[in-house]
Amino acid sequence: MLKDAADMTSLMSLRHHMFSAAFKAIALTGADRWGRGVAQGRGVILTMHNVRPWRERGFAPNRLLEVTPDFLDRTLGLIRGEGYDIVSLDEALVRLSESKPGRFFVALTFDDGYRDNLDHAWPVLARHGAPWTLFVTPGFAERTARLWWLELEEAIRALPRVSLDLPDGGFSARTESDGEKRLAFSRLYWRLRKGPEATLLAAISDLAGQAGIASAALVERECVPWETLRSLAGAPDVTIGAHTMSHPMLAKHPPEVASREIAESKARLEAELGLPIRHLAYPVGDPGSAGPREFALAREAGFVSAVTTRPGQLFEPHASHLHALPRVSLNGYHQSEEALRALLSGLPFLVWNKGRKVNVG
Ligand SMILES: [Zn+2]
Repeated sequence: MLKDAADMTSLMSLRHHMFSAAFKAIALTGADRWGRGVAQGRGVILTMHNVRPWRERGFAPNRLLEVTPDFLDRTLGLIRGEGYDIVSLDEALVRLSESKPGRFFVALTFDDGYRDNLDHAWPVLARHGAPWTLFVTPGFAERTARLWWLELEEAIRALPRVSLDLPDGGFSARTESDGEKRLAFSRLYWRLRKGPEATLLAAISDLAGQAGIASAALVERECVPWETLRSLAGAPDVTIGAHTMSHPMLAKHPPEVASREIAESKARLEAELGLPIRHLAYPVGDPGSAGPREFALAREAGFVSAVTTRPGQLFEPHASHLHALPRVSLNGYHQSEEALRALLSGLPFLVWNKGRKVNVG
C-alpha cells in the first residue's frame, strides 16, 4: 500500500527507469532477437494518441500520450527494416484466424481523433504506405465530451494552489513550481481515477472553472470536427473505428449506459460518415474500464473486434477473443530504438503477463 502521493510519484518515475533499464538490457544482450521465438506473437497492435513535434515543458504530465513525428517515422522504418508487415485491422484479424502463422504484422491505431494525427502523423504514414486506424469519439467531434486529463493538466499549470472539496475529504496542494505541479497532478489524478467518474468530472470541472479553462475550447483546439472526419473517411489506407460516444470508463457505469455508449457510437459514425464501422476501442482500456461485460456488449453491438490497452501481442488464441484484444502503447517517455525493439520482440509482455499469452478476464 502506498503511504502517500510522493510514494506514487516516485513509484511512477521508478517504473519509467525500470522500463528504460529493461529495454537497455534487452538490447544489450540481443534478447530482442533470440527471445522472439519464445515471446513474439503473430503480430501486434500499436496504440498512439498525440503525434506532434517535441515541446520542452517542465510540467507535462500527459507526455506519455505523445510521440514525435520523427519517432513515428523511425518506428515505421524499423518495422519495415525487420521485414515485418504493416497491416490494417481487418487484415490483422484475417491473419490471426489463419491456421498457419505468416510474417509478423503490425497494426497502427490512434485514439480519440486528434488534429495532430492528420497534420503530423498522416504525412509520415502516407510516406511509408502504412495503413492506420483512427478511433473516433463522436462527443469530441461535436465538442460535448471532455478531455478531462488535459483539463486537469491545464488547470494545474495555471493555478498556484489547488483546493477542492471531494466526497471522501478535501484536497489541497501548493502548485507553484513544476515539481509541485507534477506531484499534485499525480496525487489528484490517481485519487480521482479510483472513484466514480461523476466525481472525477465534477472535481476537474471545479478546477477548470477556477483556472478559467473552457472544456469545449480545449476539445476544439485538439480534436478534429465532423467536417474533417468526413473528408478522411474513405481515404486509402485509413480505417475509422469507434471509441464510444463520450469517452467514459465503461466498467464504472451501469450496463445500460455502457451499452448505449458502445452501440450509439457505431450508429452515429456510420450515419455521419457513410461507412461501416467494424472496430471499437474501449476508452482508457485498462481492466478497470473494460472487462468481460464490455467485451460482450461490443460483440452484441456488432463490432467485429474491440481493442483494450491491456499490454501484449496477438497470439493464435486471441482469434477466439476478438473483443478483448491487447495493444502496445508507444509511450512518450520511451521514444528509443531499444524500447521499440523490445516491444516488438514481445519479451516485456511475457514478463508483464507472467507468462500468460492471453489475458481476457
Ligand atoms: Zn481515448
